[in-house]
Amino acid sequence: MFIDIANLKKSYRTGEVVTEVLKGIGMKLDKGEIGVILGPSGSGKSTLMNILGGIDRGDSGQVLVDGIEINQLNDGKLTDYRRGDIGFVFQFYNLVPNLTVGENIEVVSNISKSPLNTDEVLAAVGMQDKKHRFPRELSGGEQQRVSIARAIVKNPKLLLCDEPTGALDYDTSRSILQLLQQVNKKYGTTILMITHNAAIAAMANRVFRLRSGEIVEETVNQTVVPAE
Ligand code: ADP
Ligand code: ADP
Repeated sequence: MFIDIANLKKSYRTGEVVTEVLKGIGMKLDKGEIGVILGPSGSGKSTLMNILGGIDRGDSGQVLVDGIEINQLNDGKLTDYRRGDIGFVFQFYNLVPNLTVGENIEVVSNISKSPLNTDEVLAAVGMQDKKHRFPRELSGGEQQRVSIARAIVKNPKLLLCDEPTGALDYDTSRSILQLLQQVNKKYGTTILMITHNAAIAAMANRVFRLRSGEIVEETVNQTVVPAE
């Protein structure tokens, strides 16, 4: 089991008010699978992803990623985990505007021990011709391709995507989905995605529906074959 979460709880305190955002989450995802988290705004999706990504911590429960209990890591080890093992893809790309496409990726590859390099990942996302362009010179879909290249150049074990097609039109969303499937197959990367998009959910191996901090439904899609 690659991700194995059990009874994960998380509350936020604002002044005197304590809000329980995750109320005992349990979820599992195998290596090479694509998982999707569905759920209304405020249901805890981002909080769950942030804990898995080492940006935030749970209050209690188990969060095993590739056999490592990340809830128990000290701050330094959690930073190593976040920098080394996790790739992030965001809805609004988060590219550095005054760096070229190639430089945006080199910022990550230069501090990574990964065997992958900038040219290889740009080719993998079909953006090798745009290496010397700036983000503002690219369409939304192209910027998302670059942000996926930047996420995969460190060869992460886990790719966390927060509404990766949320700002894109239908056809572009399709091509980004196909690209994520190719990454999953080519590198065996386990992928977990937040989405509102039914088509993304249909391509996942497992779909987790979150409501008010609880997983209320899990669907296993038998027709989707996990990556090796
Ligand atoms: P979703 O991603 O499903 O929209 P979130 O995980 O962002 O949900 O938020 C779940 C709940 O936790 C919301 O009610 C939100 O206001 C609250 N919340 C999230 N982050 C914080 C924080 N840092 N401090 C206080 N409350 C927060
Ligand atoms: P949203 O993210 O709000 O669903 P989108 O523009 O991504 O908006 O999608 C609009 C509609 O098209 C939705 O009903 C969605 O399920 C569908 N859709 C989006 N992308 C695809 C796709 N790649 N294949 C099939 N249907 C899609």
